Amino acid sequence: MASSHTVLMRLVASAYSIAQKAGVIVRRVIAEGDLGIVEKTCATDLQTKADRLVQMSICSSLARKFPKLTIIGEEDLPPEEVDQELIEDGQWEEILKQPCPSQYSNIKEEDLVVWVDPLDGTKEYTEGLLDNVTVLIGIAYEGKAIAGIINQPYYNYQAGPDAVLGRTIWGILGLGAFGFQLKEVPAGKHIITTTRSHSNKLVTDCVTAMNPDDVLRVGGAGNKIIQLIEGKASAYVFASPGCKKWDTCAPEVILHAVGGKLTDIHGNALQYNKEVKHMNSAGVLATLRNYDYYASRVPESVKKALVP
Ligand code: AMP
Ligand code: MG
Ligand code: MG
Repeated sequence: MASSHTVLMRLVASAYSIAQKAGVIVRRVIAEGDLGIVEKTCATDLQTKADRLVQMSICSSLARKFPKLTIIGEEDLPPEEVDQELIEDGQWEEILKQPCPSQYSNIKEEDLVVWVDPLDGTKEYTEGLLDNVTVLIGIAYEGKAIAGIINQPYYNYQAGPDAVLGRTIWGILGLGAFGFQLKEVPAGKHIITTTRSHSNKLVTDCVTAMNPDDVLRVGGAGNKIIQLIEGKASAYVFASPGCKKWDTCAPEVILHAVGGKLTDIHGNALQYNKEVKHMNSAGVLATLRNYDYYASRVPESVKKALVP
């Protein structure tokens, strides 16, 4: 029997369950104690067993159910048979109870591009800063990020043994974002969140120019967007190449769904069609409120150095 639900809602409902399974894998790799760390381009660009297993799990699970999707994952992995144990077949029914925004109701599977960051914040994961870590599944249509799922495997891990570990945040443009409590930084406070392990002079010049009351240096693009929507930071400022489309696609949707804004450092929207280059060469500027304040303070010297 044909499903009465749209492709987009079925995909988001499945991606939710797949992201939860990803969280289980991320926790299991730590519990087993062998991270299997590999350096990719340098000592701050790492891949672990969790990055590999989660990418196989997400991409294979999605491809089985939605064979016409374009799926782009961060990790370069040799083609191999994926263990059945890594496949997630479920879908979260609560999402299927929601209405599909009308502008997306006729989307076909082959029109969607899925950007997968199996583990965002790998450097921090290897250092035990576990709440910095997220799993990111972003969904794009006509070059625009329209739906996103973020699993935070170690949400609550500092709250004691009785707290429920992990959570999944999801959102669709035109519908909203769910799985967290929206909160704003107190009015007038400028709290900047930026990279912890990929800083350079451009990054610090740009942060300083924002005249911040406080600067938070934490890992992960997903984690920094969560800080914006939970009132811990007012702007995510990263004036450098380094961050890729799979880092920004899902987080951008969650932020946009609650009225925030994410662009490159020049104010350009990011594009997510399958042919686009992966690198966000002109950095990232994201805020929940007061985008113009931060955009107006990006130094000309920084803009000149970052070509889109
Ligand atoms: P960060 O804020 O440093 O955690 O970076 C956010 C995302 O962009 C993470 O997935 C990083 O791995 C990635 N990233 C940022 N800068 C670099 C870089 N110089 N080399 C490799 N990955 C980077
Ligand atoms: Mg990442
Ligand atoms: Mg990653």
